[in-house]
Amino acid sequence: MKVAFLASEVMPYAKTGGLADVAGALPKFLARLGAEVRVFMPLYREVRKKNLPLERVIVSASVEMGGAKLAYGVFTHRADGVTLFFIDRPEFFDRDCLYGTSAGDYPDNAERFAFFSRAALETMRAVGFSPDILHGHDWQSALVFAYLRHVYAGDPFFARTRTMFTIHNLAYQGLFDEEILGRIGLPASLFNMNDLEFYGQVNALKAGILYSTAVTTVSPRYSREIQTPDFGCGLDGLLRSRSAVLHGILNGVDYRDWDPATDRLIPRNYGPGDLPGKTICRNGLAALFGLAAPADLPIAGMVTRLAGQKGLDIVCDALDDLLGLGLRLVILGTGDQKIQDFLLAAQKKCPDRIGLKIAFDERIAHTIYAGSDIFLIPSRYEPCGLTQMYAMKYGTVPVVRATGGLDDSVQEFDPRAGTGNGFKFVEAEPGPLVETAGRAAASFKKSAEWRRLVGNAMAADFSWERSASAYLELYKKLASA
Ligand code: ADP
Repeated sequence: MKVAFLASEVMPYAKTGGLADVAGALPKFLARLGAEVRVFMPLYREVRKKNLPLERVIVSASVEMGGAKLAYGVFTHRADGVTLFFIDRPEFFDRDCLYGTSAGDYPDNAERFAFFSRAALETMRAVGFSPDILHGHDWQSALVFAYLRHVYAGDPFFARTRTMFTIHNLAYQGLFDEEILGRIGLPASLFNMNDLEFYGQVNALKAGILYSTAVTTVSPRYSREIQTPDFGCGLDGLLRSRSAVLHGILNGVDYRDWDPATDRLIPRNYGPGDLPGKTICRNGLAALFGLAAPADLPIAGMVTRLAGQKGLDIVCDALDDLLGLGLRLVILGTGDQKIQDFLLAAQKKCPDRIGLKIAFDERIAHTIYAGSDIFLIPSRYEPCGLTQMYAMKYGTVPVVRATGGLDDSVQEFDPRAGTGNGFKFVEAEPGPLVETAGRAAASFKKSAEWRRLVGNAMAADFSWERSASAYLELYKKLASA
């Protein structure tokens, strides 16, 4: 089974969120199951800075897009049974950020990622890799399906190729003006509502939903939610029309990167049988953020984009009441300026009860997963969510809103039966968040009950093996149809 995997971010090379974790791990696990996987991603500045031993495979090639000839090179790198191809065009990718700065998205994102798709297809041809399955992710890789359908139709090199499109977040659709079609070398006739037009703009994500053989999303519940007007971001009708080929496969965790027993980024390794190690991590976290953290008051952590999706506004509204419960709060995140300002001001007022770091920092993220007692995820919607799964492995109990993958992966704790691994609430409001965090805080005070809950959380198994097998099954079904 030959699989070409297109993603705009891949761990450990470049990351802004969960897509990178998935695109870094899933190919490795597919390779272990015997698939031959080639991953294609842009050669960003962030990748360059890592000084990897990259091998140049294409010195200079070009694709024609909208009358212009765009030159590029290709580098390759092999790790964990997976070969990566980095598409190198400095004008597009040698920049500080992946998609844009705090001032907004890069204005040429359509051209950048359309070019990435075209160059990836041409690289497959150049290296003789004719895929059985081409698997693209999110809007940045969705235009590849438009090219296959409308530019490469009838090309014998891709005649056998079946395609899969995975939606990691339906809210990010890649919307551009109509005239972009000409500039990225797609027919102007696609600007109609049955193709790429969406309320007067071109919608890149639609290309993935419409022109792929199968569509997947990253949890079973989210695959159902996005077919409803509340979660469909205007595309629920289209998604319902594709429901026969729309699947939800829960993401996994790569426990080689996310295991407190082996994690090199935390103060002390520990496991289910060695919880004093977790206390050392807790003390380390409190010291790092200058918190007064008595042993009977839980530290609640968050590692998150500071965005409305993640329910940060709910946390801001609930802040006084959360502190009123005695919680210590530690937040690591980047994003929305208004949320940042609010949190910075709150932290200044209560420096011994709120820890805040506005940054994207892998080490601090691991330190928070390990050192917190509770992990807050009040998302308004959550396609899968990885942070609750990481938190559980570190014995940090999730308090989540029951939506998408959060609902699929967290089971409500029942103290009498001793079952469940976290706490859930339904309404996206401060009241239910505070009430549920309060239940967690009360449970934290009962040490036998809490030990049981922490044990349950650490025992939850979200390893990639199961999810990778589900993808492989689906690939096989598509390839043989
Ligand atoms: P999303 O992709 O919607 O942001 P996920 O829960 O799927 O949310 O994945 C988030 C990933 O990004 C996790 O690996 C999390 O640890 C990481 N992350 C989020 N914010 C930060 C940050 N400020 N610093 C380090 N890692 C972060």
